[in-house]
Amino acid sequence: MEFTPKKIFDFLNTRGITTLYHANTVSTASSFLMANKIISRGECEKLDLLQTSQYTDNKDKRLCLWNDIFLDTTDIHQRGKRANHYGPVLFEFDIDILNSLETGSICITRTNPSKWTKLSGEWFSSLDELESDFDEHTFEQMIVLRHLGSTSLTPYLKRIVLDDPRVIYTDYKTDFYSSAFGSLKLAMAIGKIDITIEKRKCPYGCRCMTSYGVAHTKDDHFIPTFE
Ligand SMILES: [Zn+2]
Repeated sequence: MEFTPKKIFDFLNTRGITTLYHANTVSTASSFLMANKIISRGECEKLDLLQTSQYTDNKDKRLCLWNDIFLDTTDIHQRGKRANHYGPVLFEFDIDILNSLETGSICITRTNPSKWTKLSGEWFSSLDELESDFDEHTFEQMIVLRHLGSTSLTPYLKRIVLDDPRVIYTDYKTDFYSSAFGSLKLAMAIGKIDITIEKRKCPYGCRCMTSYGVAHTKDDHFIPTFE
């Protein structure tokens, strides 16, 4: 079911949710900052903006999610004590971003679309269902801004949290964190945005270093990159 932004804003407010999250790679996050917009994968492609490919891209096109923007209601790295699969850059938005959406509607996934087997998807179908089954702490139930293409980052972007995987690029004689920080700062200067970038403070017992370590040998979409 498609909801109006106002309905979802009111619903999340009643749950005490004030922040929405979006994680991405340094490359894609830099494209957002340069444009001062959060941008769907489809619009990034149309505008020929740099974005890191994701293993779900083909499926997202088939499921008609290509022009959608995904927001989480929880900081997955902090809560899951692991690296976020979508990238080391976390945008934190004031929930008022939902009030800025002049057009478009919002849907909420029941499960992660990467697991969907039906083209129709698995969405919440009513407000009653949301009230009984929505859990803001799961990593599956995402706020999806449908067919929006893009929307302004400012004034809703509150801060950026950047992981420090402690990776050294020997070729460049620099480390991932400072390279990524520099890329994001430059992108912000181009996009005329002045937002704090904070280094991630991992929760006790966080396993993200294992994820980043594994990334180098096994799992492409975990590789921290500043391309
Ligand atoms: Zn961590």
